[in-house]
Amino acid sequence: MLYLSSLFFLTLVLYFSIKAVIAKFEPKRSAELKNLKFEFDKLDRINQELKEENSLLDSEITQILGLYNISKDMSRELDESKIFHIFKERINDYVSVKDCNFLDKEADLKSYEGYVNFPLIINNEITGYLVASNIAEKDKYRFQILAQQFLIMVKRAFLYKNILELAFMDGLTQIFSRRHLLERFKEELKRSRKFKHNLSFLMVDIDKFKGFNDKYGHLVGDAILREVSKAVKDNIRQIDFAGRYGGEELSIVLPETDKEQALLAAERIRQAIEIRDVKAYDEELKVTVSIGIATFPGDADDSDPLIEAADKALYLAKNAGRNRVCAYRPV
Ligand code: GH3
Ligand code: MG
Ligand code: MG
Repeated sequence: MLYLSSLFFLTLVLYFSIKAVIAKFEPKRSAELKNLKFEFDKLDRINQELKEENSLLDSEITQILGLYNISKDMSRELDESKIFHIFKERINDYVSVKDCNFLDKEADLKSYEGYVNFPLIINNEITGYLVASNIAEKDKYRFQILAQQFLIMVKRAFLYKNILELAFMDGLTQIFSRRHLLERFKEELKRSRKFKHNLSFLMVDIDKFKGFNDKYGHLVGDAILREVSKAVKDNIRQIDFAGRYGGEELSIVLPETDKEQALLAAERIRQAIEIRDVKAYDEELKVTVSIGIATFPGDADDSDPLIEAADKALYLAKNAGRNRVCAYRPV
């Protein structure tokens, strides 16, 4: 019995001792728990913020990549209308714009009031405008970047065209240079051979040109050359082309044209030049040309013999009194 009472007593002592120990440490533990929870919440918040920043960065990177891709695709083109096509097709994927147009320098900007306007400046001159309306406020900066990229690409296309022109065009007359004329002539001849088409080659020579030079000087001579070239350009079809063969000799290639049609075309050109006045100081000069024609394949079947035949026909026209058209005839 004594034994049982002692055991009961001991158990009681033990129970209260443990309770006292727990009571001693409880507040510390709950403070620690509170602290941990606070730290956890803080980390959770930071985590959320990082997630948000991450997704912002993600969408920013997607946008930048998108803009970069548009720029890259535009840079593959050297034709301004194709460049604008890419720009207009894709811009709304990245920037919210309602209306967007590429205008030439003569365009009436009054019809685009309220639009943002980016001028295209080449060699210190305004060459065109990119206009856009209703750009979302948040997209303005991005649109500006893309518009600048667009303008750079168009500028590049214009400069490329200029270089081509310098390489292919005669500076004085703005018709093909001799080299380019002959290259194109050979290409056309190949095509005519392949598709069994006729082709006519015309040699145009200004009559008594030396006399104009001697009387009025070379500057007037140059003006005459320009006028004659312009008259030629104005009187040929889209598929025809003209070039400066030599000093005052121009050549014209008329694809898919037989002798009869070539005679008509040459006569039209001759008349157009005859009725045109060229101004020289106070005088209006009457300029005439003689034209020789050779036709593929009847007169010759290659470029050099065709040129030779056209030259011979030109000689016939000169000998017959100038200001006329002659077709090649074998002697
Ligand atoms: P024809 O009726 O027989 O053709 O007589 P022409 O005086 O036109 O012929 P010719 O071949 O004797 O003279 C051609 C002249 O063209 C000689 C040259 O001084 C002149 N010429 C050639 N190239 C140019 C040029 O770029 N500018 C100028 N002003 N004159 C040129
Ligand atoms: Mg000549
Ligand atoms: Mg001449």
